Amino acid sequence: MNPEEFRTAAHELVDWIADYRLRAEGGGFPVRSRLAPGDVAALLPDRLPEDTTTISGLVADLERIVVPGLTHTQHPSNFAWFPANASLASVLGDFASSGLGAIGLSWQSAPALTEVEQVVLDWLRQLSGLSDAWRGTIHDTASTACLVALLVARERASGLSKEGGGLQSSVAPLVVYASAEAHSSVAKAALLAGFGRKNLRLVALDPTSYAMDVSALESAIRQDLSRGRVPAAVVATVGTTASTAIDPIRDIAGVARQHGSYLHVDAAMAGSALLLPEYRHLFDGVEAADSLTWNPHKWMGTVLDTSLFYVRDPAMLEQVMSTNPSYLASSADGTAVQYRDWGIPLGRRFRALKLLFQLRLDGIEVIRERLRRDLSNANWLAAAVSSEPGWRVVAPVPLQTVCVRHEPTGLSGEELDRHTLAWTEEVNTGGQAHLTTAILGGRYMTRVSIGAEPTERRHVEALWRLMRAVADRTASGTRSSGRSGSSGGRAPRRARSRRAR
Ligand SMILES: *Cc1c(COP(=O)(O)O)cnc(C)c1O
Repeated sequence: MNPEEFRTAAHELVDWIADYRLRAEGGGFPVRSRLAPGDVAALLPDRLPEDTTTISGLVADLERIVVPGLTHTQHPSNFAWFPANASLASVLGDFASSGLGAIGLSWQSAPALTEVEQVVLDWLRQLSGLSDAWRGTIHDTASTACLVALLVARERASGLSKEGGGLQSSVAPLVVYASAEAHSSVAKAALLAGFGRKNLRLVALDPTSYAMDVSALESAIRQDLSRGRVPAAVVATVGTTASTAIDPIRDIAGVARQHGSYLHVDAAMAGSALLLPEYRHLFDGVEAADSLTWNPHKWMGTVLDTSLFYVRDPAMLEQVMSTNPSYLASSADGTAVQYRDWGIPLGRRFRALKLLFQLRLDGIEVIRERLRRDLSNANWLAAAVSSEPGWRVVAPVPLQTVCVRHEPTGLSGEELDRHTLAWTEEVNTGGQAHLTTAILGGRYMTRVSIGAEPTERRHVEALWRLMRAVADRTASGTRSSGRSGSSGGRAPRRARSRRAR
């Protein structure tokens, strides 16, 4: 494809994308994909066809094969997982990044790639009210950022063991602490960084806030110390995945500092709230952490993959991550930042353009207003649910996620779990809205994660009407089938497994 052909084809594609967004925002699709495993693959040829196609042919394939195979995260009634926004301004930045085809291997390989990233990360630092002691970079995801943080923690606690026998030469086991509600990526990072499951402590929770119980953290550390283990790292979460619980960073930092432990703050979802001065108290004490991650690619709305990673000691990070092969040496060495030494990959995309475009085209005030709208919608829903007999808000609502349970009289324990799963699945199969469930305090609940870019109050109101209607219907079904002696609430239908061909 030459640049002139690209020009024509790109216009056609952009038109189609704009139309897709209009349809998604207008609620023109079932939110959750209705396909079964293998359905999409079955529509594609077994082997690459010998003839080529045109952009119109591909756009038709997008429409016929891809769109039905999407769960439409840009739909206003998508309340699943977390807001996975992809603001169109950031999409343009992504397009520009791909179009330029720049590659970050070193500062020299694309000076703008490094320096736009430095500057934009510093803008976001200022907009978040963080002190200028922080330096930032972009990772693909918070999972990668957590792995990087724990690798640094491991090297700090082991006196740079990587330069010798690595962890295999460590005598005292190094331990990582996180709350029992920490994201699964924290455990994954701890295991990948070589700490081992036996040295991962999932600290008990405060039973009402579901935040880390700091006295439980303290006693776990003391117990480990008494057995000759080293408390290498603590991961605090601001905005846990199930219920957006807020671990008390200031108190946790006090304990971490006392024992020389590295402190990483995982605010992947909730970090967008740093942009709102009135919500920064949720991050109280963050200045005492060693690193902080948050994902503009969630609630703030920068298209994936844009995870911010801020550190206070870039020299230590570079010491752990750096390599200096001769083929990358340049005259800028020693004076310019080399982001390859701030993370794992060598080749880096020009991700900062996504942030630059979103911040410059949409502007920070529009983003802030949207976040405030979502917070106010969550408050509205929490109040509505709390005042409805038979319904309960089962966790505090510090942000935009409302955790609810329909508790019809007479249902408890596993029967209640089955009911929760059944009515939520019923909502999802209907296609009008999309919700997810999670276990909190040993029981299933339904999470309503508000914050898709097109979600307005009326969508939340419609959801609440739908939830009540479906849950009531499911409950009466459960009761009558219970009386007729069947197993009670219907378990969610298992995805049909179908071979692609
Ligand atoms: C979403 C989330 C993650 C994982 O984020 P990725 O960028 O997808 O790796 C980790 N921690 C928390 C608290 C999250 O909300």
